[in-house]
Amino acid sequence: MLNNFIKKFIKNSSQKAIEHEAKYVAQNYKPLPVLLTRAEGVYTWDMEGRKYLDMMSAYSAVSLGHSHPRIIKTLTEQAKTLAMTSRAYHSNTLGPFMEKLCKVTGLDLALPMNTGAEAVETAIKAARQWGYMVKGIPEDQAEIIVAEGNFHGRTTTIVSFSTEPDYRKNFGPFTPGFKAVPFEDIKAIVAAITPNTCAVLMEPIQGEAGIKVPCDGFLRDLRQLCTDKNVLMVLDEVQSGLGRTGKMFAFQHENVMPDVLILGKALGGGVLPVSAVVGTREVMGLFVPGSHGSTFGGNPLACAVGLEALSVLEEEGMVQNSAILGEYMLANLRGINSPLIREVRGKGLWIGVDFDPAKVSARSVCEKMMERGVLSKETHATIVRFAPPLTITREQIDGALKIFSEVLRDIDTTD
Ligand SMILES: *Cc1c(COP(=O)(O)O)cnc(C)c1O
Repeated sequence: MLNNFIKKFIKNSSQKAIEHEAKYVAQNYKPLPVLLTRAEGVYTWDMEGRKYLDMMSAYSAVSLGHSHPRIIKTLTEQAKTLAMTSRAYHSNTLGPFMEKLCKVTGLDLALPMNTGAEAVETAIKAARQWGYMVKGIPEDQAEIIVAEGNFHGRTTTIVSFSTEPDYRKNFGPFTPGFKAVPFEDIKAIVAAITPNTCAVLMEPIQGEAGIKVPCDGFLRDLRQLCTDKNVLMVLDEVQSGLGRTGKMFAFQHENVMPDVLILGKALGGGVLPVSAVVGTREVMGLFVPGSHGSTFGGNPLACAVGLEALSVLEEEGMVQNSAILGEYMLANLRGINSPLIREVRGKGLWIGVDFDPAKVSARSVCEKMMERGVLSKETHATIVRFAPPLTITREQIDGALKIFSEVLRDIDTTD
């Protein structure tokens, strides 16, 4: 049932509702001018009932598709049975969810959190703690190497090692202990490692930076280097994980194992914030009661949904679909002959199209696609990203590609 407050706005146009929103909502985002009221599978609808194909999936949070029936069933049944306990007590859902996470990743111990940024913070604590307790780094001297162009979330510690001025401005003072090196530059990582380095923390493919895929062999080289130098390999797969790149995890493309893996976004099945850190026993076994916590982390509702999300991904062939249709879409996008495009790159159903800023902004491409019923979102000024739900079909991709080509042709001929 819609309450009266919401009903009042349905009578208004989307435009009015968007203006109303701006009066009361802090403007830390710049959304496309579309106001969504409903979604199912790969589609979503606005206030006026216009239908859109979702090629964004809420930054991969909706990789399973909107309101997947099995997720909704689990969500509602668990909500009626046991929703929230806090970790002051055990629940019958935490063990099975963490077991499943360990089994799909091949790692030993897992720790549940809520958002991606919290899981990144947890991984930083885990790595530093290992640095002091196992590696023997002197107190408060632990260093973590990160990549330039990284995106790991928005907390004060995480923006401390961002290299994006917009993410940092006016938010200092910053947390020390991080060193940024160029992404996929193994020599720079070698040079940055000192006896006080406890970890290298990276995204295996940089998402927010514009779907930057490292050259083949980078993760293998990084794994070897970390092992040789007694440094933890910590991978942030909050966005790349859970089928997005055509494998369950991006590190599987190179048959390596990280020491610590960070997951989020799709782990919540598209309905809840659910994140986790999974790692080796040597690292994750160091947490003791009192050393870390979260009121909502590992709550029964999140655990039931997270477990079901992992099962749905495996049982409904979504990872294979991402591999097959991702390759198809990448080839077709590369086949578009437009003078506006500088580069097309990606892996699985995670593709960035980089535009020539002298000719068009990524934002205007997204707005024009939106007008024709395809939702995407720019990242930085020049990149349009495609990351549809992993349930998308070839025909639906063809439809999106057709509209994308038409939009590019229109822009090219009107200039
Ligand atoms: C989105 C994202 C995060 C942060 O997740 P939140 O849930 O927004 O806190 C961290 N790392 C990567 C790689 C992400 O894409």
